[in-house]
Amino acid sequence: MESRDSVYLTFDDGPTEELTHWVLDELDKQNIKGTFFCVGENVKKYPEIFNEIIKRGHTVGNHTMNHEKGSDVLKTAYLESIEECVGLISSRLFRPPYGRLPRKWDKIISESYKIIMWSWLSHDFDESVDISRIFKKAESQIKAGDIIVLHDNNKTSHRLKEILPRLIEIIQKKGLKFDVLR
Ligand SMILES: [Zn+2]
Repeated sequence: MESRDSVYLTFDDGPTEELTHWVLDELDKQNIKGTFFCVGENVKKYPEIFNEIIKRGHTVGNHTMNHEKGSDVLKTAYLESIEECVGLISSRLFRPPYGRLPRKWDKIISESYKIIMWSWLSHDFDESVDISRIFKKAESQIKAGDIIVLHDNNKTSHRLKEILPRLIEIIQKKGLKFDVLR
């Protein structure tokens, strides 16, 4: 069961050479567990880093092989991508890249996977959103049960490094805990 006073930190698109270890160390400092939606090709590239995520007690989920956008590929290719990914990432959790999934595919994917979207978008990847604004929104909006999306992505790693420690602090000040998705 989900605990009523928890939020869920999720990290999409990794593992990455530059950022994953930093994220793991930050989470370890506070003994926080998160959920990492990994891209199959990145798991192939960095198997040791992927194993480290699991070793440190976090949960992993499927984010397709190549970060395909559901609206851009055929259904069979998309389903194959999920299947191939599950060969590398043994998980029933699935998050569609870009949060986009043609409605008609929901049912068939749900037969084998638990589709996890999010309720709070951090905008960590969006350079046009000022970081101070992200903190203000976090203070006023984040509540128990929220699924928070962050990115394990080299391109915006400098932003995550600024955002994550303060975000954790804001959530802890609200008296909320952290849990992993199941
Ligand atoms: Zn993604």
